[in-house]
Amino acid sequence: MLKKTTPQKFLKVLEIHLAEHCNLYCFSCSHFSQLAKEAYYDLKEFEQDIKRLKVLTKGNIERFHLLGGEPLLNPDVLKYFALLRENFTHSHIWLITNGILLLKQDESFFQTCSKLNIELHPTKYPIEIDWQRVDELCKRYKVTLKFYNNAKIEKNSMKFVLNLEKQNDIYESFTQCFMSNFCVQLKEGKIYTCNICANIEHFNAKFKTTLMPSDEDCIDIYKAKNYEEILEFLAKPIPFCAYCDVKNWKSIGKWKRSEKSINEYLI
Ligand code: SF4
Ligand code: SF4
Repeated sequence: MLKKTTPQKFLKVLEIHLAEHCNLYCFSCSHFSQLAKEAYYDLKEFEQDIKRLKVLTKGNIERFHLLGGEPLLNPDVLKYFALLRENFTHSHIWLITNGILLLKQDESFFQTCSKLNIELHPTKYPIEIDWQRVDELCKRYKVTLKFYNNAKIEKNSMKFVLNLEKQNDIYESFTQCFMSNFCVQLKEGKIYTCNICANIEHFNAKFKTTLMPSDEDCIDIYKAKNYEEILEFLAKPIPFCAYCDVKNWKSIGKWKRSEKSINEYLI
């Protein structure tokens, strides 16, 4: 609990969606990407946001996760890599992908990853992918390849239960939540303490609900005075936590695909 509510000294991880949508439709995705329509982080906006972040943090972010949705659906993925590396020369940059499109990438993809030190950290799902071939390519181009999850254990599906009536205690939800102050996400000039709040728009659009984040649920990087203000904000419960029924989040066993039903998020 103390860890959740203690501001980090600097951001250990910052997640950024390069694509909102996905080509693998997982049950109860915590980014709601199986529900999302095709959309990308606008490249110009991304550049501005990254430059502003560099000023605020003085380049002190340990690691970026470029993900989504499926980041490799973004046709300009190499341009995002270049912009990020240009501004954050010392940070680790991980591409977190489901791997489906990895073998469709051409030589320039692997060469750029090698040159800019972009590491590949795929999540291994129980789907057919020739990982040996991916490994060979990574070795050939000297690209780091390491699975994000434990590749030897079959992936489970989680159920992320929401309370549409917003009736949960925000302190309890926040302190019990594994995402709070950890799965921190940058999206369109704002920073969120978790993926659920940052991406709820896809849930709302699909199910015609109104679980709207307010100005108190995120921090605007253009209004924040300094890095400390952001780090302190991320270590506090937000009003949106009242929607999360964290005590009922659970593994439902073997990984399965989504049927895009609201029941995947209801008790
Ligand atoms: S691969 Fe990841 S982003 Fe895509 S639906 Fe599955 S959990 Fe969500
Ligand atoms: S809104 Fe609060 S409880 Fe829900 S995922 Fe985010 S931090 Fe966790």
